[in-house]
Amino acid sequence: MTTTVIRNASVFDGERRWPRSSVVFRDGVITEVGESVEVPDGAEVFDAPGQTLLPGLIDAHTHLVSVEDLAQTLAFGVSTSLDMFSSPGLVAELKSAAASRDDVADLRSAGIGASAPGGHPNSEKVGDIYGGRPTLTGPEQAAGFVADRVTEGIDYLKIISEDNTCWGDTPLPDLTPETVAALVTAAHDHQLLAVAHATTQRAAREALAAGVDGLVHIFADGPPEPDFADQAVAAGVFVVPTLAVMEAYFTHGTPGTQRLAEDPRLAPHLGPSAQQTLTPLSTYGWRPPQPDLPRPEFARQATELLHRAGVPLLAGTDAPNPGTAHGLTLHHELALLVTAGLTPAGALAAATSVPARCFGLTDRGRIAPGLRADLLLVDGDPTADIATTTNIRHVWRRGVHLDRTPRR
Ligand SMILES: [Zn+2]
Repeated sequence: MTTTVIRNASVFDGERRWPRSSVVFRDGVITEVGESVEVPDGAEVFDAPGQTLLPGLIDAHTHLVSVEDLAQTLAFGVSTSLDMFSSPGLVAELKSAAASRDDVADLRSAGIGASAPGGHPNSEKVGDIYGGRPTLTGPEQAAGFVADRVTEGIDYLKIISEDNTCWGDTPLPDLTPETVAALVTAAHDHQLLAVAHATTQRAAREALAAGVDGLVHIFADGPPEPDFADQAVAAGVFVVPTLAVMEAYFTHGTPGTQRLAEDPRLAPHLGPSAQQTLTPLSTYGWRPPQPDLPRPEFARQATELLHRAGVPLLAGTDAPNPGTAHGLTLHHELALLVTAGLTPAGALAAATSVPARCFGLTDRGRIAPGLRADLLLVDGDPTADIATTTNIRHVWRRGVHLDRTPRR
């Protein structure tokens, strides 16, 4: 494979920005980073003054439905997708595509999440998306449930603690705190991370008390209690706030993802399924209970509190939930993290080095010799203006330049 040199760019290395830097990669791996590098004979050179090179972005909360999702994800510079609930057969198919092709994003997956019979993901509107999935009724079933998922090849365990308080008038069956705790123990027995879906403060606190490693939503049922962040710090967790999907569900008007989807530079890279997923549920007449509660603001406040307390925050979209799209929505999530008090560089770290560290992805998330050449080159300086991540010039996945010919 030829050597590629990107020179005279700014480099955001996953933690901080280096002005006027150059990066060399070959055979899918970064070989050199420095102010001046030697250009080998025959190298492909990108002269990039005024541009910023970033590690390929990581979306720390998605649900993958098809290989097309992974292709769309990569077109927006997101080279790793952390799936948080999917069927094992599909995940195996997606992983084999990601191993053999460089025009799709890479993935990790939770496979089938742990939930109560009839519990979330299940709603009156949509029905049980993964109907017939294995569930569990008590702590005595936790070890068996996790062992079955390990056999299916999961990368981490997803635990669903959801009583439907935020989302509907009818309560949903939910796991007991004892069952959540037993699931965490079982995951740790297999050296797996255990992450929890919780959208109320009560459920979030129970998950922290049960010893989870991360929360993959922030709650939106009310303002954060002042000691919530103390509990999160003491528990040593990371949090994936998913502010964009909260906004999409709970904001009247045009959520940010829709505005980005109308951007003529971005719209052509959305695949056919995005047309459907970008339609907010409110369009179909869905209304949350207590619709006047400012739930996105509750979520933002809780995220700000966690950020101030030093809890690691990860960018995640929950795509393809209504009002979101794979790849695209991560750029809006970065902007929302900035509204929660992160600096633009902090938001970029939340989509690069921080998720890589929290999920043990040691080969990516930073720009340094020896790491995967998953790279995103944009016009401008996203550490000054986070919106410039959408000025996408080039994407490389494992060192292979992506052909970003519009999808439609
Ligand atoms: Zn989700």
